[in-house]
Amino acid sequence: MYYGFDIGGSKIAFAVFDDEFNERERSLHPTPARDYPAFLTLLLTLVRQADARWGGAGTVGLGFPGVLDVRGRILAPNVPAIDGRDLLGDLRPQLDRPLCADNDANCFLLSEYHRGAVAGAGLALGLTLGTGVGGGLIHDGRLINSRRGGCGEFGHGGINASLLRRYPELPLYECGCGLPGCLETYVSGTGLSRLYRHCGGQERDGKGVIAAWQQGEAQAGHCMSLYLDILAAGVGAMMTQLDPDAVVLGGGLSEYPWLYRELGTRLPEYLMAGVSAAPVIAPVFGGAGGVRGAALLARHASLPFS
Ligand SMILES: [Zn+2]
Repeated sequence: MYYGFDIGGSKIAFAVFDDEFNERERSLHPTPARDYPAFLTLLLTLVRQADARWGGAGTVGLGFPGVLDVRGRILAPNVPAIDGRDLLGDLRPQLDRPLCADNDANCFLLSEYHRGAVAGAGLALGLTLGTGVGGGLIHDGRLINSRRGGCGEFGHGGINASLLRRYPELPLYECGCGLPGCLETYVSGTGLSRLYRHCGGQERDGKGVIAAWQQGEAQAGHCMSLYLDILAAGVGAMMTQLDPDAVVLGGGLSEYPWLYRELGTRLPEYLMAGVSAAPVIAPVFGGAGGVRGAALLARHASLPFS
């Protein structure tokens, strides 16, 4: 059996997969906000209860929004209970089994590589568009990372100069990472809502802006055109620099079929001359990707992986 945890700032998803990787159960739990002992107890309890139900000791994978530093400590500012903690080191003595952890965007991409949208791609790029923007790369079945664990922070590159030439009135937003003009400040769900206010709209969340656009509202139309150009320019820069064979999108915005048509139309304008756009593909596992990818980490750690 394989157990996956997808750890978020407010909720933790837990799922159990059998040896053929069919999902057998799933549950959602509130994240203990700042209480690390309560966080450890919750994870250990869920694992032990699953062991009892399924009659074995499943391997455990954890996906979280952050990185593992060189000392094995978790850096996850949006999950204060585990930020700066040696979570794996504290769980290992209590769980006699393989235990792995990785960034949640990497988990999403791993899931889409395993019988998903980018199965078999030589170099696959994953980009998650949610509250923030996450990214990951897989080459020949293996997640790419450095010893510092920070590979894939594609949301924290500055927006493309050709956009600023085309939209000189575009503001440079300050990003939570400390840099100005990061892609994430425009193309995350929060970014879409911020762009809508810039276009004269009222306070709406990302889904609300999309709904207003689909009802024909003018400000939302202008905002969505701007949004899609910024996203195309960002993905275009990644394609020029990394030359992926396929790109899979995740997060709440990835569920809209028109997103892929719009990107296909807009991308060529933002690519280096001579570069052709790689296919941008919708995820197969959608919202389930993170927890499924986390459960796959143990299998990924013992290659060959497919
Ligand atoms: Zn940033």
